[in-house]
Amino acid sequence: MSVVRGKIPCPFTYWGGAYLVKSTRFAPPGLLEAMILPFDQALRTVEEKLSGAVPNTSTETLPLTETLGRILAEDVFADRDYPPFHRSARDGFAVRSSDFTSLPVTLTCVGEIRAGGYFRSSIGQGQCISIMTGAPLPEGADAVVMVEHAQVEDSQVIFQRPIRAFENVIHKASEAAQGDRVLSRGQRLGAGEIGLLAAIGKVSVKVFRKPSVAVLATGDELVGMNQRPEWFQIRNSNSSLLAAQITQAGGIAQILETAPDEVTALRRLIKQGLAADLLLLSGGVSAGKYDLVEQVLAELGAEFYFQKVAIRPGMPVVFGRVAEKFFFGLPGNPVSTYVTFRVFVWPTIRALSGAPFAKPLFLRARLASSVSRKPELTTFVPAWVDSKEGVPTVDPVKWQGSGDLVGLAAANSFLVVHPERARLEAGEWADVMLVDH
Ligand code: AMP
Ligand code: MG
Repeated sequence: MSVVRGKIPCPFTYWGGAYLVKSTRFAPPGLLEAMILPFDQALRTVEEKLSGAVPNTSTETLPLTETLGRILAEDVFADRDYPPFHRSARDGFAVRSSDFTSLPVTLTCVGEIRAGGYFRSSIGQGQCISIMTGAPLPEGADAVVMVEHAQVEDSQVIFQRPIRAFENVIHKASEAAQGDRVLSRGQRLGAGEIGLLAAIGKVSVKVFRKPSVAVLATGDELVGMNQRPEWFQIRNSNSSLLAAQITQAGGIAQILETAPDEVTALRRLIKQGLAADLLLLSGGVSAGKYDLVEQVLAELGAEFYFQKVAIRPGMPVVFGRVAEKFFFGLPGNPVSTYVTFRVFVWPTIRALSGAPFAKPLFLRARLASSVSRKPELTTFVPAWVDSKEGVPTVDPVKWQGSGDLVGLAAANSFLVVHPERARLEAGEWADVMLVDH
């Protein structure tokens, strides 16, 4: 294993896929050297630890209309065939394809079938019937010709084009047969899933209970958002930001009293936060003299799975477990808080809700202008994605670094620059992580 020096400034050393950092100030027992994990490895660590955790078995049964965004706690089966009959996909004429041996074909129209009705007898050779979208195909017919392709002359209809059997017909049971599983336990209910549940008449649905997520903001400089800060203070914005992200991810946010940078109060509030299913701390995880979060967690017997990740913003992010509960220590700078939540905590909340662990999804967009970033880090740059002349295009927004909420609020995505690339050129295809999805 070779040691590559000099790529990251002191005190970091790159060592076979993980960085080592000499802790300058405090190190929890057994962790004199904290590893700086590459992003992918940190994400895998979170996934592995969660897959070994006790699954969410707490469920509730809700009316269908209250289940948007919830995670299914049961498999759902089709109550009958879908569609329940051979269904016309067009307004037009139901015909027998065997009548279409030579063109043009002239057939006698013997009636009409509207959606919600059906034809009592069958159609014979040389006959057709007017049919509407959604109506059942009559006995004897095996295809539908679109009304636009038919020429009506009194009771005669003339067809100029050939037709294949079952053209414009959705086969009975082709979407699902009676008894087929149409939704699985662990699936998240969006509008489409709710439509499907309504279609099969499932009016009450068993879902997992939402996990509770405690938010503990730390910092002597913080005042409440409805207070007027002194010139040297700032308002606590992270609690509100995190509560919004928790809600979006499917958890129930419980905002705790703000903790000062002081051990006794921190310990009391951390213990309080451990009543929730997951504890999030903001601030106090960097290398400053008053960054006490890891020290207090260690004293409470915490296991640390990582304490630094090679990402920017958000390098000091901490993940571990104490008293059977997972916790994340998120760096206090608001954009760091946002990004570390989005990539690590979001999938954690989904997993604690009973859904499979889902890594953040990166899509591709064309870069509008070149960007240079520090190599060796996975960098998330607040950006705007838009369609330009039909091509998804990503452009970094103006921002001043990880404290810049104004820049964050002007972004709808993050441009993701991977560690092996220090510079991306305008016109290149780059990874983008959309937010709020
Ligand atoms: P820390 O992670 O505690 O070193 O804080 C890093 C930066 O984030 C500092 O400038 C803090 O003032 C700021 N910060 C910490 N917590 C919050 C918070 N809850 N809301 C807004 N900014 C914060
Ligand atoms: Mg602080």
